[in-house]
Amino acid sequence: PFYNQYDFESSIKVDIVDSSNTDKRSNRLRLETRYITVHNTGMNDPSHKAKLLNDMQHRVDGRVASWHFSIDDTDVYQSLPIDEVGYHAGDGTSRALIDYPTGVMFNGNYSPYVDISSDGYYTIDGVKTKVVAPTKNGQILNRSYFTSRGVRVNVINGEYHIPTTYFNSSYNQIANYGGNIASVGIETCVNEGGNFNRTMRHLGKLVAWLLHKYNLGLNDVMQHNDFSGKQCPQDIRNSDRWGELMHLIYLELFALRNFTNKNITFEFKSLTPTIMNDNGEIINHPGVDSVVSYQVKVTYQGETRTYEYTSFVDKLTFQRP
Ligand SMILES: [Zn+2]
Repeated sequence: PFYNQYDFESSIKVDIVDSSNTDKRSNRLRLETRYITVHNTGMNDPSHKAKLLNDMQHRVDGRVASWHFSIDDTDVYQSLPIDEVGYHAGDGTSRALIDYPTGVMFNGNYSPYVDISSDGYYTIDGVKTKVVAPTKNGQILNRSYFTSRGVRVNVINGEYHIPTTYFNSSYNQIANYGGNIASVGIETCVNEGGNFNRTMRHLGKLVAWLLHKYNLGLNDVMQHNDFSGKQCPQDIRNSDRWGELMHLIYLELFALRNFTNKNITFEFKSLTPTIMNDNGEIINHPGVDSVVSYQVKVTYQGETRTYEYTSFVDKLTFQRP
């Protein structure tokens, strides 16, 4: 779908769970907000939309699970106070999130190769740190136990630091800590009948809005998997669409940082309306490799310019029902 500009914040349906429902409400303020955590529900029934996810959190059912936002292709609900600790990342809330100094100085590489030495210390680009890695009941592990995106490393005052990690025995993985105590949790709907492309764009808006609000960067968008090893957001991971989501977040963040209050408007029009509608959605796939074109009218400070673009529609993306 094409970029859709509107006041996102006022579209959020705020419906906070009562503070007496302590299965969902921790009633604890987060001390810091480092990350935005993306989940997807794994519930594909057509009824499993954002409203139902919000309603579920209002139930008193003994199930300790809560998240801040539920989002589908049309709606976004907020169920917890935005600065409260939620129970969504499977990494507990009892420890502190600490940046451990490693003794290894920054070498210019922001994504260094992390492993574990044979005597149990983290290594960074082959250099042994002074940070002890978690073990499995005393057994020293190696990086094959890391979650798919691995252990986070920060650079503080020219020195690598490793934020708290732990061994998650449910998933047999060394995971990052801080999903519950330092992140905002989002559940994304994968309900059948929903338009998942619109859900992805909508999710991009929500994540970007949160990044902007907390002054975070793209690097701070996390998967549930990063905090526990759970295969979540499962559908986004399995369909290999995480990179696409990050690109959408990047575009929405760019718009938030550059377009807001600047009196800029966009008008999109399909020039191949038999295949693509004015929202940029393929409505009638021709079943063969095709080219679509569209026009964008941008109005900024009273001046309008018109641009035309083409895009490729791959026959491989077409699946007959
Ligand atoms: Zn999850």
